[in-house]
Amino acid sequence: MSPVIGILALQGAVDLHARALARLGLDAVEVRTPAQLDTVDALILPGGESSAISKLLTLNGLFEPLQDRLADGMPALGTCAGMILLAAGVLDGRADQRSFSAIDIDVRRNAFGRQNDSFETDLEVVGIDGPAVHAVFIRAPIVERVGPGVEVLAIVDDGRAVACRQGAVLVTSFHPELAEDLRVHELFLSGVAA
Ligand code: GLN
Repeated sequence: MSPVIGILALQGAVDLHARALARLGLDAVEVRTPAQLDTVDALILPGGESSAISKLLTLNGLFEPLQDRLADGMPALGTCAGMILLAAGVLDGRADQRSFSAIDIDVRRNAFGRQNDSFETDLEVVGIDGPAVHAVFIRAPIVERVGPGVEVLAIVDDGRAVACRQGAVLVTSFHPELAEDLRVHELFLSGVAA
């Protein structure tokens, strides 16, 4: 049986992740409650506004259950705001913003500055063969610290990481669901199966 993939659906870019999974032949479960979280084998944390998602996780009683699942090794894909939520440390966050420490990285929010608020580029991503991955960045975070157990999968021109993996947790600063390319989702799903 194929694993059940959830998408955290409190705020943000939920639909396009669901569409990417559908194109890969998988139904996605939208997760807004602890009961829904119990039904999934893996979770996508989408882009959006990490401080708002953090607040909604607490309001919905989902923060602790999700933290427990992640600590138990549930595979997770975090894109943009989702990356921020999975990180160990958040720089330039709101004072009350929480994160899961599911991957040993520190990230800086909105790290590309005004001129580069939003931009697109092509990136080589470790584990993805063939043409470079077209990466869309929108008020994106960057990785400022990479812990010893973390694999850097992609960097931008200044050498800083924008995609990382630790165990079954994969994070990207960019939005793979905005490109037609399904290879980042496939890379994540190969880790779910493993
Ligand atoms: N800037 C947003 C944040 O801090 C992330 C942007 C995004 O997910 N596209 O949460």
